[in-house]
Amino acid sequence: AKGEGKGQWRRYQAALHNTFLERLELRAELDKAVARESFVVHYQPIVALDTGRAAGLEALVRWNHPERGVLTPDHFIAVAEESGLIVPIGNWVLAQALRDAAAWWRTLPADAAPYVSVNVSARQFRDAGFVASVRRHLTAAGLPPDRLVLEITESLLLRDDEQVRQDLATLRDIGVRVAIDDFGTGYSSLSYLRQVPADILKIEKSFIDSIAAHHQQRALVEGIMRLASTLDLTVIAEGIEHTADRDALAEVSCPYGQGYLFCRPLALPQVMDWLVGARQ
Ligand code: C2E
Ligand code: CA
Ligand code: CA
Repeated sequence: AKGEGKGQWRRYQAALHNTFLERLELRAELDKAVARESFVVHYQPIVALDTGRAAGLEALVRWNHPERGVLTPDHFIAVAEESGLIVPIGNWVLAQALRDAAAWWRTLPADAAPYVSVNVSARQFRDAGFVASVRRHLTAAGLPPDRLVLEITESLLLRDDEQVRQDLATLRDIGVRVAIDDFGTGYSSLSYLRQVPADILKIEKSFIDSIAAHHQQRALVEGIMRLASTLDLTVIAEGIEHTADRDALAEVSCPYGQGYLFCRPLALPQVMDWLVGARQ
């Protein structure tokens, strides 16, 4: 039994070691991927719940891995964050998303051209020159600033950082909108919402799931809707998978939603087809 214990310990050590090596390897591969720009952006529609039409499209990064195929962010975002590579990756996504949005803007009638919503990590937002790079990419793409939404997280706001506050104000002054992503998962203190310059709340999927079946869930979302209306924020419900949940959300006057029920994230070539199809 003693020997077995030792064997288990060795295996445990090996697993730790592996994980460390795997992370190092992933980090090295990610470095190369940044240099080669081996990423693609997929887009998931954000739909108006009353009409089913796309108001916007959320840009979601994928890594085109040479051996493992197309990888979703859960495979690499943690390493990208801790290595700082999220900054160049995020800037690449921003530039790409603005170019794609400019193409929709040029192709579709103005009232049908969706905005593009780009995720920005706290680290990327706080990187010196972020605001300047947003301006530069908007100008380069020729996209009106009101066609861009930046999705930030509560954690960025909770630092109570004066520079962050100023940068958010500057971005909104030029017409860029700001969404608070995964709303409800952060901290209990809502007081920061009073002073925070934001336009949109995205309610996290766990609050949306089975809202139709659970009274408390529904009451909670109604509470968020009231809060949002007081603060003059619009609301997007994330991760809607069932018609019953969509209907319950419409009943509590939630204006926008996103989820597999409407559409999964699409590769760029499919986006225009979906937009044109959804308009009919
Ligand atoms: P998120 O911003 O909360 O994005 C929503 C995630 O939920 C996406 O996963 C989307 O594909 C998925 N989703 C959408 N509808 C449904 C649904 O009905 N059911 C379920 N189960 N899932 C749904 P994805 O694309 O794997 O992205 C995961 C996370 O990675 C994102 O969560 C976001 O935090 C991060 N991320 C993605 N792209 C970027 C980026 O360009 N920069 C940064 N910093 N983070 C990114
Ligand atoms: Ca998001
Ligand atoms: Ca989210």
